[in-house]
Amino acid sequence: MKLKKQLRETGCPCGGKAYATCCAPLLSGARQAASAEELMRSRYTAYTLADDAYLRASWAAQTRPATPTISEAGVQWLGLDVRRHVEEGNEASVEFVARYKIDGRAYRLHEISRFVREDECWYYLDGRFPEQTASKSMTARLKEHV
Ligand SMILES: [Zn+2]
Repeated sequence: MKLKKQLRETGCPCGGKAYATCCAPLLSGARQAASAEELMRSRYTAYTLADDAYLRASWAAQTRPATPTISEAGVQWLGLDVRRHVEEGNEASVEFVARYKIDGRAYRLHEISRFVREDECWYYLDGRFPEQTASKSMTARLKEHV
């Protein structure tokens, strides 16, 4: 399978060394993210693997979308660059740039995500986009390309 081969050769989709010891234990539920940044990285990896169940499970109940979050739009994820991670008590924000391709065209998503910690677990709350005036989630933006 192409994806598994790719994971073995390039490491974790989020940029970590090995998928098996980076995001895999989080996606499988073997352990919880120890920080908002770790959760953010695992959510990026979940997007690359189209793991909708994990994306929903790691979404805060108050903002979790009612519909599936993965579109069928042949998105090819190219890489993740985490720029900043700020944690204050049970709240955190992670600024990142994710690059992806749709139909051969390259896009860049610059987002500042907010996370909340409930019962020792981190959850994705929402995100804002410093380079755009409109506030749209990664999901909403991806759906626009379909
Ligand atoms: Zn990873």
